[in-house]
Amino acid sequence: MQTVFTPERLADPQLASSEKILRSCVHCGFCTATCPTYVLLGDELDSPRGRIYQIKDMFENNRPATKEVVKHIDRCLSCLSCMSTCPSGVHYQHLIDHAREHVELTYTRPFADRALRALLGKLLPSPTLFRLSLLASYFAKPLKPLFSGRMRAMLDLAPKTLPTKSPFANQSVFPVAGSKGRVIVTRGCVQSVLAPHINEAAVRVLNRAGYEVVMRADEGCCGSLNHHIGKVETSHTQAKRLIDQWMLEIDLGLDAILITASGCGTTIKDYGFMFKDDAEYAARAALVSSKAKDISEFITGLELVNVTGEKPVVTYHSACSMQHGQQLKEGPKLILKRLGLTVKEPQEGHICCGSAGVYNILQPEIAAQLRERKVNNLLKTAPEIIVTGNIGCMTQIGFGLDIKGKVLPVLHTIEVVDWLTGGTKPDVIPK
Ligand code: SF4
Ligand code: SF4
Repeated sequence: MQTVFTPERLADPQLASSEKILRSCVHCGFCTATCPTYVLLGDELDSPRGRIYQIKDMFENNRPATKEVVKHIDRCLSCLSCMSTCPSGVHYQHLIDHAREHVELTYTRPFADRALRALLGKLLPSPTLFRLSLLASYFAKPLKPLFSGRMRAMLDLAPKTLPTKSPFANQSVFPVAGSKGRVIVTRGCVQSVLAPHINEAAVRVLNRAGYEVVMRADEGCCGSLNHHIGKVETSHTQAKRLIDQWMLEIDLGLDAILITASGCGTTIKDYGFMFKDDAEYAARAALVSSKAKDISEFITGLELVNVTGEKPVVTYHSACSMQHGQQLKEGPKLILKRLGLTVKEPQEGHICCGSAGVYNILQPEIAAQLRERKVNNLLKTAPEIIVTGNIGCMTQIGFGLDIKGKVLPVLHTIEVVDWLTGGTKPDVIPK
């Protein structure tokens, strides 16, 4: 695609980087077929190619974002399905991130939208505030029928009961005698409150395999959430704090930084790019990114033996951040198969479930359609258990099953691995 930028404007490294991405698009349109919003809405402006044109026009003319452009950018899930499909290697992720930042800097959203985004950007990265907000939503749940739109979506997604605080919450190091290595497991913000048992399972699996685990009690947010809503300053501050913390651990000797929420993993693996023009943080960010791995990548190299004899039929839902963001497609399924499980896959496995960070709150109508479509496809496989690697998908799919009155366990891959290799059987599995 031809672009028109003056050399002066291209002196801005971020714009230069986006211009390169724009030029790599040959507007073939292959990506439209796998874009969830285009599939649902059928509007070219809600396709990857259409969004690329709108972003190009905005950047080339150095224009503030308009209401119309913001509508189509906001509707993008950042699922990155288009990146998996694109034959020209267009790095849509970096382009849409830049566009969201531009929107945040040049467009004044209506007050309610601004307030909600600010609230989400504050609440979700703080486990303490998030826990309090869940407590409040627990009391507000009976009033749910009185609400609609985004407020209703928030109440829908809040769990019926609040999980108790993890016994691992205040411990930062999980040692093991004669350890063969040392790894970090990231706590995560939302996940540490909604499903602390996921990281407990990860610690048990890694300890049994001989790895000392660091899971810092004072860990902060990785910045993923604010990054995806264009609040770049906040997300960079959060990321830098974490990089500083992890550099201390790297200096002590560290094999890997393991992430159990693939949404966060996609962002942490991108720190190298995010800070490439930051003289102070570029090298540190690149080092942290090079150590970052999804938990499934790391445990692929471990000896995993099913000691229980239990072999449920599972359906694997690949989170977009896993299959498109990190291009981890076969690994998690192979782990489950190595444990003797029959692993099914739903139709349209490449299409997002509608969770996408806080998309299911900010765009509840589109998210609900995607959720319904995903849950229907999952149910067609007649699973005993649904397995995935991202807390956002677990919540979204769990709610979709609830609506249909279906009682089905939705587990994280590492919970299944822990259970079958001699750890704890998840509470939701019948004894
Ligand atoms: S598939 Fe790639 S090259 Fe083709 S229109 Fe989409 S982004 Fe552009
Ligand atoms: S990231 Fe997802 S929703 Fe956004 S344009 Fe690409 S495929 Fe469509």
